[in-house]
Amino acid sequence: MPTEKSVKPETLVQGISASHGITYGQAFLYIQSDVEVPSYDVEDEKRPAEITRFEHAIVVTRQQIQKIMAEVDKNLGAEEAQIFDAHLLVLEDQALISETIREFETSGKNIETCFDKVSQRYIKAFAEIDDEYLRERACDIRDVAQRVLQNLLGQSSQNLSQLVEKRVVVANDVSPSDAAGIDSSQALAIVTDSGSKTSHAVIVARSMKVPAVVGLRDLTKQVQSGDWLLVDGYEGVVIINPTQDTLFRYGQIQLQKKGYEQRLMEANRRPAITLDGVAITLRANIEKVDEAALVKEYLADGVGLFRTEFLYLSSGRIPSENEQYLAYKAIAESLAPAPVVIRTLDLGGDKPMAGQAHLFPKEDNPFLGYRAIRFCLDNPKIFKDQLRAILRASIHGDIRLMYPMISGREELARANAVLAECKEELTNRRIAFNPNLQVGTMIEIPSAAITADLLARDCDFFSIGTNDLIQYLLAIDRVNDRIAHLYEPTHPAVIRTLKSVVDQAHSQKIKVSVCGEMAGDAVYAPLLLGLGVDELSMTPPLIPSVKYLIRSMSLSDAQKLASAALQLSTAKEILALCEEFSRTRVKAS
Ligand code: PEP
Ligand code: MG
Repeated sequence: MPTEKSVKPETLVQGISASHGITYGQAFLYIQSDVEVPSYDVEDEKRPAEITRFEHAIVVTRQQIQKIMAEVDKNLGAEEAQIFDAHLLVLEDQALISETIREFETSGKNIETCFDKVSQRYIKAFAEIDDEYLRERACDIRDVAQRVLQNLLGQSSQNLSQLVEKRVVVANDVSPSDAAGIDSSQALAIVTDSGSKTSHAVIVARSMKVPAVVGLRDLTKQVQSGDWLLVDGYEGVVIINPTQDTLFRYGQIQLQKKGYEQRLMEANRRPAITLDGVAITLRANIEKVDEAALVKEYLADGVGLFRTEFLYLSSGRIPSENEQYLAYKAIAESLAPAPVVIRTLDLGGDKPMAGQAHLFPKEDNPFLGYRAIRFCLDNPKIFKDQLRAILRASIHGDIRLMYPMISGREELARANAVLAECKEELTNRRIAFNPNLQVGTMIEIPSAAITADLLARDCDFFSIGTNDLIQYLLAIDRVNDRIAHLYEPTHPAVIRTLKSVVDQAHSQKIKVSVCGEMAGDAVYAPLLLGLGVDELSMTPPLIPSVKYLIRSMSLSDAQKLASAALQLSTAKEILALCEEFSRTRVKAS
């Protein structure tokens, strides 16, 4: 580790461990906020200069957009770069410019106030038009207007794609679309003021294999870009300007952990078989097509959850049927004959699409709102494009399909009816697909858990999304750091619900997987298996530690653990039992 001389005193900030690892590097402070527009009167003699300022800001904005276009063209391709054509057109809109100048001449206010007023009027008018294409223009105008205002006010705009040197990202929050834009080779770690273990940005950090600590409250106020930070993703600690003693101590810890992880990786080559001879299926959760490499590296039994919304979030637009087909085909072919469970779009909640406000209007309770299957059933064109893409790709490997956030039998029937329509359309167009494509339902809403026996009649498998199921069962917002300590996976309500879902599924002869973060935690995995869960699916880097534990325990002991847990009345007691179980198995092996 480098040994820089600290200027400020060493300060330790405790947060929540979200992704393992230790790193040391300089901070990249990322603060996103709306531009605040000051309003004041402009004296007569300064009025010509005000117009010149406006014209200059327009020219600078155009140059910035052209620069971004060139970068996007180089990194992502010409089609993606064309998205910015619409932004350039906004700057060429004579009506917007001449109305701003008219407003300036009549009101006598500064040019920022006038431009903001006129552009807001345009945004509102476009946002209300009953035509999807024109409504999208509202977002283009908003983006460009923010940029022009920043240039007028001399502020620089920031986004995470500006991360071009290896840095620790320090942010008040990282939205999933921010996370999707991070160059994984440049982020040393991600540390945030807010968030919890199951926020989606954290899940992305985990698949990028970088340490992450969340819930650090006001870290962004304590750190400046360029400060040296030590991030301990194991203990959820960030140390600002660590002393040389601290760096030395952490250097030792890092060596120990690295050695331990290497041993785990070696052990990972062996099959996931318990001491009493039961083979356990361990699949991978992925967000991007290129993570197929991770699936292979960690020897997962295929993919148990492909979160397809990241295809949408990383490009910032709705991908076409064909683009999706190519992505799904690529992953299926690369992992065949292993299965790939593709989950249909789960946007909304903490995964809104930036710049698509017409599709995702602001909501008071986004987690209880317009999300996942609700959004898809309400936007059949988007849903059908995705279903046809999955069906077409299904002949290229063992693809399975899964719906998120199903709340009951009627919703499942509606989704299946849309799927049947898509099959019919493809048949009529003589396009091949697997007619026996397996269809699964995620169980992540209490109403689905309670009526699992009914849902099991209309699908081929279940996958329990414990991240959401726990948040809805316990009424704990999964991304709120203030109540993160109340998010208890071992709450008796959770354990009983899991047991009930497994029993209902098995009575209807279908299999149950768990793909929430609980599955990848070596403390909870034995409990899940003991409760009768058939498969576990997790972020690939977590597979070695879960597999190690599986190889050190017997399933019959895990079943006893589950029976004992079901008798207990508090989350703490059950957690203690699970911890004891893992600890003794790992020690004994
Ligand atoms: C879950 O809710 O457990 C799940 C796997 O889905 P997501 O984390 O994407 O909401
Ligand atoms: Mg979920």
